[in-house]
Amino acid sequence: FRKRLVMGNWKMHGGLEANAGLLADLRAGAGILADYCTLAVCVPFPYLAQARSQLENSAVSWGAQDVSAHDKGAYTGEVSAAMLNDFACTWVLVGHSERRAMHAETDDLVAAKAKAALAAGLVPVVCVGETLEQQDAGQTLAVIQRQLAPVLALGTQAVSRLVVAYEPVWAIGTGRSATPAQAQDVHAAIRASLASIDAAQVRVLYGGSVKPDNASSLFAMPDIDGALVGGASLVADEFLRIAAA
Ligand code: 13P
Repeated sequence: FRKRLVMGNWKMHGGLEANAGLLADLRAGAGILADYCTLAVCVPFPYLAQARSQLENSAVSWGAQDVSAHDKGAYTGEVSAAMLNDFACTWVLVGHSERRAMHAETDDLVAAKAKAALAAGLVPVVCVGETLEQQDAGQTLAVIQRQLAPVLALGTQAVSRLVVAYEPVWAIGTGRSATPAQAQDVHAAIRASLASIDAAQVRVLYGGSVKPDNASSLFAMPDIDGALVGGASLVADEFLRIAAA
């Protein structure tokens, strides 16, 4: 049994005042969902303290959107896994497509970040997904296998502790979600590559234009274990309706 995980990725949105209302609404609304759904938000670094103070002892956990592969040192602008631990993070996204595309993150770097997160006791949410061009060229599964390969090489113990998020780049922020069947095919392939190292408990989330009105059909798929939600995670009511779907 894999408990559903619905995770918000705020990206570079928010502010102290707006967050206060959103976090309070999430805290208030999440309790009744907690039995069958794990809720989480990944917020910008400066708001981790706020997330912690408003969500502590609630049904919503929190995390960051990136982490350094290094422990410490002369890495200006980077944030280490130990620093995330100081703010009681549970989760950290690694390899989001926006970081792969705009910050030139390689598959190896993403795996190194996942490794650093695991070493600190955080749960890395490893994001994978193909571009529209790659999809049109029939390369979806090949791209995902390539992205996952260095992560799988971290070994069974590591892989059994992480979360995978499949986010087709063409579905992110476009309003054009993958169909449930499309996503299921990819999730089944991801599960198959995990199964070879005996990690059947690993949750595989879908991300890309998840909204209250398409969440339940996505969650009905056997290998979709939850969602990584961008835009809709900035509106408490939408996010909670996705979690309840
Ligand atoms: P949207 O839900 O806004 O499409 O974003 C998805 C995403 O990138 C979550 O990480």
